[in-house]
Amino acid sequence: MTSPRQLALFGGSTPDQPEETRGQPGPTRLGHASIDYKPARAILTKATGFMDAYDFTLNPYSGCAFGCTYCYAAFFSRASGSMTGAERRDTWGAWVEVKENAIKLLERRRKPLDDTLIYMSSVTDPYQPIERKLNLTQGLLEVLAKRHRPKLVVQTRSPDVVRDADLFREIVANGGRVQVNLTVTTDDEDVRRAFEPTCPSNAKRLGAARELVGHGIATCLTMTPLLPVENAERFVDDLLATGVQNFIVQPFHFQSGKFIAGTRDAALGILATKLDCGQRSVPGRYLEHYNRVRDTLRSKLPGLGEGKDGFKPPF
Ligand code: SF4
Repeated sequence: MTSPRQLALFGGSTPDQPEETRGQPGPTRLGHASIDYKPARAILTKATGFMDAYDFTLNPYSGCAFGCTYCYAAFFSRASGSMTGAERRDTWGAWVEVKENAIKLLERRRKPLDDTLIYMSSVTDPYQPIERKLNLTQGLLEVLAKRHRPKLVVQTRSPDVVRDADLFREIVANGGRVQVNLTVTTDDEDVRRAFEPTCPSNAKRLGAARELVGHGIATCLTMTPLLPVENAERFVDDLLATGVQNFIVQPFHFQSGKFIAGTRDAALGILATKLDCGQRSVPGRYLEHYNRVRDTLRSKLPGLGEGKDGFKPPF
């Protein structure tokens, strides 16, 4: 059921809520990102393409304030309001749209989602910063826990996912399945800051993975994409120290223009520095580096999945 706080944020009101704030949405700005509130036509989307082994994708938000410079989701940005799709792509990370009716849409679903494979989320991060204010992802999990028995994979770069450990356990206790995929792309904070400027640090993400394992939640560490790694052996030791036993790796894809506007030069610059080469040699040098690190991962990590095959449903 929708919690009182969510009711307040998504059009309802609570008895103890001041009259003047009832029915008001949440903040319109958070940090560097503008926040808009729009109704969605649907909350479950038929999974296609890379995720076609799932039944549905579930995205509580459009856009993502983490703003990773390489985010492929940016390239699916659609025109909205006065902005064209290209403008939205070029300002990826600076805007978020909240699907304000998401919980209602899921509550209205009559057909059970039992044994249904759901991937949350494919084009946003369900635990990006605005989630702390709105608890929208949490509200969707509450509906899933109370009414359905889904097979759910949650994908995030945020340690905030630990907040919902009880709900994941509730879904499993009711007969559903849950795996949390936490993305860790490098052991090098310089690289992390260049590519994932507003994401939490590697150390915090690994700490969250350890906590999830402690809560008994099935957890997978996804190195997707794997960025340059400072010390592959130490990186593997840190991954294993979390207690996680499932891992996925895939390479960074260099396709010209596949960087959000204005970030390509900075990203190539740091790659050239870290890979000790000129910018033109970066793609070739990166591939050599990737193959070396991947071989170390293959030799030490049990259950290492790779590429699309690695992302197939774990249930
Ligand atoms: S966290 Fe995921 S959805 Fe958000 S910007 Fe980064 S890659 Fe894109």
